Amino acid sequence: MRSRFHFLLPLVLSALAAPLLAAEPPQAPYIRCVQNELAALGAAVPVTGRLNRATKTAAQTMQKRFASSAHMALLPKLSEISAASWCRELASLKPELRKFMPSASAPLFMSSGGPGSVQTAVVRESFQSVERFFQARYNLQLASRVDVAGADSGAELTKLAIALQRGRGVSYGGMSRSVGRNCRTPSIYFSGQAYRDQLLICWKREAKFDQAWRRKVGPKIGAIMAHEYMHHIQYELTNSKVWRNNYRSQSRMGPAWMVEGGAEVAEYEWKIARGGYRRLSLAELMKPASKSAKSLRTMLENRSVKGLEQYLTARYAVYLLTKRYGEQAVLNYWRHVGQGKSWEAAFRAAFGQSISSFYSEFEVMRRDTQRSASYMAGG
Ligand SMILES: [Zn+2]
Repeated sequence: MRSRFHFLLPLVLSALAAPLLAAEPPQAPYIRCVQNELAALGAAVPVTGRLNRATKTAAQTMQKRFASSAHMALLPKLSEISAASWCRELASLKPELRKFMPSASAPLFMSSGGPGSVQTAVVRESFQSVERFFQARYNLQLASRVDVAGADSGAELTKLAIALQRGRGVSYGGMSRSVGRNCRTPSIYFSGQAYRDQLLICWKREAKFDQAWRRKVGPKIGAIMAHEYMHHIQYELTNSKVWRNNYRSQSRMGPAWMVEGGAEVAEYEWKIARGGYRRLSLAELMKPASKSAKSLRTMLENRSVKGLEQYLTARYAVYLLTKRYGEQAVLNYWRHVGQGKSWEAAFRAAFGQSISSFYSEFEVMRRDTQRSASYMAGG
């Protein structure tokens, strides 16, 4: 297996050479992106990869100039932490600025099949189709470059994840334990995981990975990627993609039902957009929520969402919010969290409703399609 990673060697060497130069700030690629964008928009900003007064002043001026853009208005002050969001939102103003985003360079794709294998092809084509979907449907393109790996065992997936990290000269640590929690060796099911700059897919081990396998599992792998890609969006919108944060921090992006429900809704919409999947009726969407023993409030107290029934309950809650307030309002919830607001304040800012009133209403709505339909219609 190891010989397959030869192409990573030059990258690893350059990463080792880096400490000989003056250390770059960890968010330098995003700061460089912002400086390039500001300069392209006419500001006199040198491109250094370091935050300085000229860059901060130019950013403030640009925020005023584009005050009519809701997303620009929701940006917190430019800092190391918010630089990725600045890089993304400035690029969304003009398509020609997208080339400055770290995501403009091609991600690395790896699989346990090695380069040129059917498995690597599935990983690549699924991810690219999910990227196109998010761009077309939500008008969202990540600023961060997400590398992708897939394997049929936790042990293999861990190796690939570490190889991808080496390719960037970083090490998250603790990968074996973390990956192993959701991917057995050998794997007997499908699952996905999102880390700071990685999306990992675990699939069931098969005797043969051929074109028939590719056709059969392609939609399933794509659906899992759509779910995990939404986590990357949440990660970036909340300004959590910073150097210390290699693992998804639900306590920051939360509540957990919003995070998982948001990802479930995106996955559902992706399946419909891809074709071959029927739009569900309101009663069908509601059914798992009506049977759930847990309310949103108890999921919140447990700080996690566990099991299919809870995931689909969370999906129903976010589905109702999406239908009433629109997809952009749900995405703006995370932008508000990214400004440093608490969950409650962000919820109120995005939806104009308190989170506790939504909890109470949801307890009725999850068992009543009529009440749900009238809520969705704004009643
Ligand atoms: Zn998830």
